[in-house]
Amino acid sequence: MAYQRPKGTNDILPGESEKWQTIEQTARKLFNQYQFHEIRTPIFEHIEVISRSVGDTTDIVTKEMYDFHDKGDRHITLRPEGTAPIVRSFVENKLFGPEHQKPYKVYYMGPMFRYERPQKGRLRQFHQIGVEVFGSDNPATDVETMAMALQFFRELGIKDLRLVINSLGDQETRTAYRQALIDYLTPFKEQLSADSNRRLLENPLRVLDSKDERDKAVVAGAPSILDYLSETAQKHFEAVTKMLDALNIAYEIDSNMVRGLDYYTHTIFEIMSDDSKMGAQSTICAGGRYNQLVAELGGPETAGFGFAMGFERLLMILEAQGITLAAQKPLNAYVVSLGEATNIEALQIVQSIRQAGFSAERDVMNRKAKAQFKTADKLNAQLVLTIGETELANGVVNVKNLATRVEKAYPLTQIQTQFETVYQEMMHTEKE
Ligand code: ATP
Ligand code: MG
Repeated sequence: MAYQRPKGTNDILPGESEKWQTIEQTARKLFNQYQFHEIRTPIFEHIEVISRSVGDTTDIVTKEMYDFHDKGDRHITLRPEGTAPIVRSFVENKLFGPEHQKPYKVYYMGPMFRYERPQKGRLRQFHQIGVEVFGSDNPATDVETMAMALQFFRELGIKDLRLVINSLGDQETRTAYRQALIDYLTPFKEQLSADSNRRLLENPLRVLDSKDERDKAVVAGAPSILDYLSETAQKHFEAVTKMLDALNIAYEIDSNMVRGLDYYTHTIFEIMSDDSKMGAQSTICAGGRYNQLVAELGGPETAGFGFAMGFERLLMILEAQGITLAAQKPLNAYVVSLGEATNIEALQIVQSIRQAGFSAERDVMNRKAKAQFKTADKLNAQLVLTIGETELANGVVNVKNLATRVEKAYPLTQIQTQFETVYQEMMHTEKE
């Protein structure tokens, strides 16, 4: 019986995992330039951490949680997203304390879990890279964080992305808009989906986020939240657009955009691709401001701003745009060993090269000489070191630079104790 991986999950195999590493390294380097530091929280959390923050009426909490009771009967869930766990950690570890840098800036990367209907770009275990900034309500924080996301995509060579923004305002805004939305939606009750009918009074903003076609038609004519912004919210949103202009960052405003999580306030944004190969899953990065969330999870009033991007969707865009990330590094040395008598020496050679800080591989499959040289070529080796029975008897190793074709014999002891000098000498040979 051969097993299959669970539905909606992927094996990330060698050949593919190198791309993941390149993307991760690009993110780490860039985020460091913006002074973000990595945080790693558990893969599972107490369910309240998620339900209290993401929102009881959201799809994530009502339908998509991977939750279970553990052997101690604790209600646990695999994390569906990164922000709520980080806020939990921020409060628990008192990262708001005076000994910590303000704003407190962290990034994360790792798997998230949602019980979704798997399709292209929509998985049950997917991966996100995200960031959070705590303690600044300056609109410049919104803008530099969005700018960082855009710079990240640019550094990977991705083109033709759109930045879409909106404001969800503050409490005052939400109260006023909620009523306006209920007044608008109620006459359409019959036309709305069952989900939206249920949410109409509980959380009418959720109706705007519906993916149901009937709902979408109704929602198209809904009043704009931007007409209900409080004075404070209006001021914040204007500052954000002005600063985007100051950095020459193009953006669109979509007043119907609300995002799938309840904790947002003020600025929200998505970065989308119009590439037809992305299908309905066109959003690769999404986030915004969440000024109530830290207090909601028991911490002091603390402003927050963050985003998360979907790793798998990022890979889809790279593929759609024909972008191949940096190829594998070359292999420094391949050891060809001929005859069973050289097995020990080949082992010693390959180990001493690796311990000197170089990459090395050898034949362990008893291949014929020709097949071993072919393998060295395939592995993109810079140097081939050959040890046969004659070399063994003479205490030497034949070293060949595959690019220049120059060959030279070195004492076995020199290879084992001073590979660095052998490598430098052989790499600086000229084509004959
Ligand atoms: P969507 O509307 O596509 O369901 P969402 O609002 O649930 O997205 P967020 O929770 O904001 O998305 O997650 C941020 C990003 O993570 C998304 O823009 C997307 O790139 C990625 N993402 C979310 N859910 C999945 C999933 N099930 N599979 C793959 N990527 C995902
Ligand atoms: Mg979703």
